[in-house]
Amino acid sequence: MCGIVGFVGNDRAIDFLIGGLEKLEYRGYDSAGIAVLNNNKFTVNKTTKRVADLKTKETEKLIGNLGIGHTRWATHGKPDLLNAHPHLSETQKFAVVHNGIIENYQSLKQELVAEGYTFKSETDTEVIAHLLEKYYKNDIKEAVKKTVDRLKGSYALGILCSDLPDCLIAVKNFSPLIIGVSENANVIASDITAIVPTTKKVIYLEDEQIAFIISHEIIITDKMGKPCKSEVSQIDWNVESAQKGGYDHFMLKEIMEQPNAIEQTIKNRIKQNEVYFEDFCIDEEKLKSFEKIQIIGCGSAYHAGVVGKYVFEEMLRIPTQVDIASEFRYSNPVINEKTLTIAISQSGETADTLAAIKEAQKRGSFVLSIVNVVGSSIAKASNGVLYTWAGPEISVATTKGYSTQLAVIYLFAVWAAKRLKTATKEELNAAVEELIKLPKLVKEALKCEKTIKETASKYKDAASVFYIGRNLDYAVSLEASLKLKEISYIHSEAYAAGELKHGTISLVQDNQLVVALCGVERLFEKMLSNIKEVKARGAVVFSCSEKANKQIEREAMINVYIPKTHNLFTASVEIIPFQLFAYYVAAAKGCDIDKPRNLAKSVTVE
Ligand code: GLU
Repeated sequence: MCGIVGFVGNDRAIDFLIGGLEKLEYRGYDSAGIAVLNNNKFTVNKTTKRVADLKTKETEKLIGNLGIGHTRWATHGKPDLLNAHPHLSETQKFAVVHNGIIENYQSLKQELVAEGYTFKSETDTEVIAHLLEKYYKNDIKEAVKKTVDRLKGSYALGILCSDLPDCLIAVKNFSPLIIGVSENANVIASDITAIVPTTKKVIYLEDEQIAFIISHEIIITDKMGKPCKSEVSQIDWNVESAQKGGYDHFMLKEIMEQPNAIEQTIKNRIKQNEVYFEDFCIDEEKLKSFEKIQIIGCGSAYHAGVVGKYVFEEMLRIPTQVDIASEFRYSNPVINEKTLTIAISQSGETADTLAAIKEAQKRGSFVLSIVNVVGSSIAKASNGVLYTWAGPEISVATTKGYSTQLAVIYLFAVWAAKRLKTATKEELNAAVEELIKLPKLVKEALKCEKTIKETASKYKDAASVFYIGRNLDYAVSLEASLKLKEISYIHSEAYAAGELKHGTISLVQDNQLVVALCGVERLFEKMLSNIKEVKARGAVVFSCSEKANKQIEREAMINVYIPKTHNLFTASVEIIPFQLFAYYVAAAKGCDIDKPRNLAKSVTVE
């Protein structure tokens, strides 16, 4: 979690540091801080408010051209000023920013305290600053090497030493870290959004690598100090695509971008009415060897996986299990080389999913990942990757990330069904045709915005909301409910509609808002019965179904309609009204939509 930045170059460091931290603030915002080296001394400025609060008159005076910065998502110690990064060593020779968790920090701390080091914070990070000082005997490479050798856990580090006014040090192990390379400056950041305004040339640091970055040279070594080869890649995300583009919030912008994001994800993968994957590494024989599909993900990615289960079982007739990554990794899973594991993550940095992948691989399973960020840790760790070409997603609550994950799931299902011969030619053609139409259908679904906005303003003070559905509608309920919870802070539950009467219906009383998802045509009558059940207990029903359905109009007080699509692709159009509903409820309540409390975009801690 959290974002780190660093700068070394000809210009003032502070401008990149503040600008970069503002871009990374979505990754964690418990506190923020910077350290700039001026005349061999560090000036440190921290805040427990937002990054903008760092722009003080004092900061403006910082002319040093070497610095690091941090925006925190606390794991060890409260989100206060003492725990805010950067952390300094005993004699202030070293300044450190850290993303991740040092698992053995307690034993290291005990050792350092016994040696006379004093700790100012409760963080795990502070041990790193003291270790650097302990091992520093005028040889920085040796000090960093010895320090890294003592650390267990996940970390991306930005390190400065006051003896070295031209050297920024970066270390990566499991947490993301990218180096931006340009003529006037070299920079580091946890993700590309902070780097793009400065340069489009980047080096993706690998795990267990250390980089010594000076303005005109970058030396990368492994943790033993052996030089490593590095490749400079050119990225094509522009600054514009990472900005709000006129919308009040990134979330709304990203909701509206979905037709385009789905189009980007699909378009180059359909040729002459057939799904085709570039550089794909599951050959037909391998595909046929799979007896089970295991999907893993967290949050919305897990919900995309629940959709995947229905789609794969229907189209491929392969038993599919979907698990929350944090549960899967400690569950002694029954998988082997005959299991295809599909890992889903927008950022590609989700720590739980990454660990689950390693667990699956240990048991011989082939791991195919569905991720948005090229070169991310999950992409690199997997045996095969299918990218969701959603572009940068800034809002913490995912929308286009989820939608493009669904698109990749459909593409994979169609691709595999052809090879496994589990669908007829006609069925495959029909599915491909609907896939091609999907961006247009999602655009049509977005037309409900006005109705949704009105409904949202009426129900913004609801104490709780239920979402019910069956089959794919149930999968969408999970995601719709999560969207509402995470950004509007309204309690909500998603329930399999047939399961309500087994207990939860006791919570339904007068004026309880129940959202009934009725997109799955063959289960429509069943849903009508469930709607009647909750209405009989006083619920207000808000339904979602395909156009022109008179029966539902008689039962529900609020109706929203979605365009008809392939029966397995319903989730893609059905989620749209409920992303908008969550957004407009949160907007009506004045919530901090893009950065909801206690959450962070890319969850790189366990
Ligand atoms: N573990 C460190 C802390 O709690 C870093 C957390 C982060 O990645 O923001 O301060």
